[in-house]
Amino acid sequence: MRSAVRALAPSELIDLCDAGDASSSTTRAVLLLEAATEADEAGSVRDWSLGQVNAGLLRLRTLVFGRRMEVLADCPACAAICESELDCLAMAEAAAPTAAGPLTLAFGGAEIAYRLPTAADLLAVTARASSDPAQALSRRIVLDGGMDADSGELGAALAEAVAAADPLTHIELALTCPDCATRWTEPLHVVDLFWAELRNLAARLTFDVARLAQAFGWRESDILAMSPRRRQRYLELLPP
Ligand SMILES: [Zn+2]
Repeated sequence: MRSAVRALAPSELIDLCDAGDASSSTTRAVLLLEAATEADEAGSVRDWSLGQVNAGLLRLRTLVFGRRMEVLADCPACAAICESELDCLAMAEAAAPTAAGPLTLAFGGAEIAYRLPTAADLLAVTARASSDPAQALSRRIVLDGGMDADSGELGAALAEAVAAADPLTHIELALTCPDCATRWTEPLHVVDLFWAELRNLAARLTFDVARLAQAFGWRESDILAMSPRRRQRYLELLPP
């Protein structure tokens, strides 16, 4: 299943920033995707696999800010700042889940039925503030009631199977330090990076709206409805 999303208007993005300000990362992801999917699909966002959620967020990020994303990380060996550029759209398109339905995992001589973890699973695990979220997630996705889903070995095998079946569930960036050539991997938390960018955008837009409203007496909704180019032209008329 493709996670189709539409672009959001500046006023919608600011509203979403306000709505999700005090929420968890998963709630923010669901808010953004429910707003950006067609009404008949929005109800199903919680049932999207975590890989689909990340793919949807990468597509939405492409529509809002473009496909190129700068990511900064500190080298674990020499603390140099390592800068890398990601192609959000290429990442979203490269890795779709292999199957939507129940999957099977060969483990300990048995075939274990499981399904891909969804946004709803992660919301439930986060809401219960479980002491071991990975174990709580395993318990939800194993479909064989008799299986010991709390076993650490099964949990690890399941995580590996999920990563193979739905590669965008967890995104790991392979990085190389430009100074000392150390290689390491860094998890990419798409929603957190995207949210930080949206917060900056909301702050910038609010500043621009305040300047234009003060100078011309226009309403916020009218200023936000202008194209960025048009807004910029009026801003250039104002004293610095
Ligand atoms: Zn280094």
